Amino acid sequence: MTAAHATATAIARHAKALPGYEARVAAALARLSAAAQAHAGRIVQATSLGAEDMVLTDLIARHRLPIAVATLDTGALHDQTLALLPQIAARYGIEVERHAPRADALASFAAEHGKLEAFPMRRSVEIRKACCAVRKLEPLQRLLAGRSAWITGLRRGQSDGRAEVPFAETEASTREKLSPIADWAWADVWHYIAKNEVPYNALHDAFFPSIGCAPCTRAVALGEDLRSGRWWWEQDGAKECGLHVHPLQAPAPRSQPHEPLATTP
Ligand code: SF4
Repeated sequence: MTAAHATATAIARHAKALPGYEARVAAALARLSAAAQAHAGRIVQATSLGAEDMVLTDLIARHRLPIAVATLDTGALHDQTLALLPQIAARYGIEVERHAPRADALASFAAEHGKLEAFPMRRSVEIRKACCAVRKLEPLQRLLAGRSAWITGLRRGQSDGRAEVPFAETEASTREKLSPIADWAWADVWHYIAKNEVPYNALHDAFFPSIGCAPCTRAVALGEDLRSGRWWWEQDGAKECGLHVHPLQAPAPRSQPHEPLATTP
């Protein structure tokens, strides 16, 4: 890493106009527009408030698509992440729905495993998954209730486990899960953010490519995988919280390499 790269913003490090960028933006917008029409009043973007999701929120707002925007407020997010909510309201006029964990479930988890400040999720994968179930999975069910489609910012380049992410899939025979920028590169995401002056999480400038709950997210070094800063103490298995896992589906073979955190010239 050069000194310039160490102090540069995420835009300076990652944005690049790759061949086919304009076509990918147009195709993503077409997917969003078609979904908004097909699921009128029953479609939501579940935003993590990360870079990819901010691109999607910008596309939704810029083109006035009737798609609700919601997030899982786990009670453990960074201040920098929560700071985006008023920015989204001011910039786009969108009040992001916030779905928080149930107080009784939090109390019961703390009684059994200890308070979050003691990092119980680092003691075992089972406890970590139990925490994600309380703070993310159950609130997600409420976020999705009454909705026939949801939008995610998943990309194939994010990790091995996401290498085959489709643009659209049907869950439980009813609800559509749509990933309109599944084929975008990390450089595309940042090129879009730069061109459209999209607000983004300040942690991205501090080498956090993938941002989740504060106790489970850390900065990564250039050359490391984009999701290597999530649950870094777990050495094996997919770094997923369960939001995007198909329990009955075997991992697909890789056809597209995932991206290391790299600078762009
Ligand atoms: S990411 Fe960490 S703090 Fe957040 S729900 Fe999962 S285990 Fe709990």
